Amino acid sequence: MGVERTIVIAGAGIGGLTAALTLAGKGFRVVLLEKAERLEEVGAGLQISPNASHILAKLGLRSALDAVALAPEAVSMLSARTGDTLARLKFGAEAQPRDDYPYWVLHRADLQAALAAQVRAHPAIELQLGRRFDEVSSCDDGVIVVDRGGFDRCQHTALALIGADGIWSAVRQQLFPQAQPRFSGLIAWRSTIDAARLPADLISKDVRLWLGENAHIVAYPISGGRRVNIVAIVAGSWNRPGWSAPGDPSEIMAQFAEPLWSASARQLIGCADGWRRWALFTMADGGVWSQGSVALLGDASHGMLPFAAQGAGMAIEDAAVLASCLDGVSNADHAAQALQRYARLRQPRVGRVQATARRNGAIYHLHGPMALARDVAMRLLGQRLMARQRWIYDWRSED
Ligand SMILES: Cc1cc2nc3c(=O)[nH]c(=O)nc-3n(C[C@H](O)[C@H](O)[C@H](O)COP(=O)(O)OP(=O)(O)OC[C@H]3O[C@@H](n4cnc5c(N)ncnc54)[C@H](O)[C@@H]3O)c2cc1C
Repeated sequence: MGVERTIVIAGAGIGGLTAALTLAGKGFRVVLLEKAERLEEVGAGLQISPNASHILAKLGLRSALDAVALAPEAVSMLSARTGDTLARLKFGAEAQPRDDYPYWVLHRADLQAALAAQVRAHPAIELQLGRRFDEVSSCDDGVIVVDRGGFDRCQHTALALIGADGIWSAVRQQLFPQAQPRFSGLIAWRSTIDAARLPADLISKDVRLWLGENAHIVAYPISGGRRVNIVAIVAGSWNRPGWSAPGDPSEIMAQFAEPLWSASARQLIGCADGWRRWALFTMADGGVWSQGSVALLGDASHGMLPFAAQGAGMAIEDAAVLASCLDGVSNADHAAQALQRYARLRQPRVGRVQATARRNGAIYHLHGPMALARDVAMRLLGQRLMARQRWIYDWRSED
């Protein structure tokens, strides 16, 4: 296949792998560059709601993901102080007839492995590991992309470059150096727990959220229920980039002390070991996502707080819309127009999700009388709180 049907993607995370599949599905040859030597088991749980699971299902991943993911019955909002349930919001057809696709919880590594297996099996996709995007320049045909692996440099001429290289994107750094991730003042601590080590009353098929003062905990089953993913969000000033800095268990235990935190929440924290932490950085809403034949996708363009559980979902949606916009395009001018259209189509929705994630975080971390008012409102609204999420979950791609 010639230059006019070749697209280079930098980054084989969830967004880059999905985009490789959606673009190959439109007849493009895809060169997928990933700086890591191996797609390792880094990271922990991800939530994939129907707005994204339907795209993965259409890519033929339904049975592979059903085998490793769980579909929780509900999200339970709990009081940090008492452990009481404030509201239980049901998923699924019984609660929402529109839920024709699952709400999955799963390990990031399982999703990445399922996508990578499909990518490796696709004859039009070349996954190149240990290749770091280095620079891009424009040419008559589109772009010249240079990547590096050790001392070796490689050059690709292509119709377009997609920067799916995460929140610390090198593609974005070259194109829009003024757009920098900002530290949110929040730190996520995460661990997974062997479910067999937990007492029965601490095991649940729900996604559980304990809402506390300036902190919250999210827990849900992953790896087919064999492990529980736990993420504890706290305020702080530690702000190093990266996903996997080791965390001291005594430090996290001290953050979740009595009487602000109930025995059950503290017991869950106490059962976890191997804590990792990452500082939460975000990109500003909007911004510029494309320039000529280069566009950004996923966290590279809109890294967001995880409090709407849509970081991976928005990257997957981006991949579907990007492929629709580029469908049938075979020259550089049209590619540049298609990439602008992709950004125009995506930005309003992604901006709304970014704002929702910020608002959710503020609500989760309320204290004093405002927290009491929130708890009363949650008890009163109950399942109706789920209706407020439908605009996120009910989105479907055009093809
Ligand atoms: C190692 C890791 C662990 C994570 N763990 C969690 C988690 O536990 N929970 C959670 O909610 N979110 C996690 N995330 C983030 C989550 O995956 C993303 O928010 C979401 O899936 C959007 O994905 P993305 O593809 O846009 O970016 P990412 O998932 O960040 O993927 C970007 C990819 O680009 C690669 N890359 C970066 N620079 C270059 C370069 N110059 N050249 C080539 N490749 C490059 C990276 O190695 C990575 O594979 C993690 C991300 C990573 C990279």
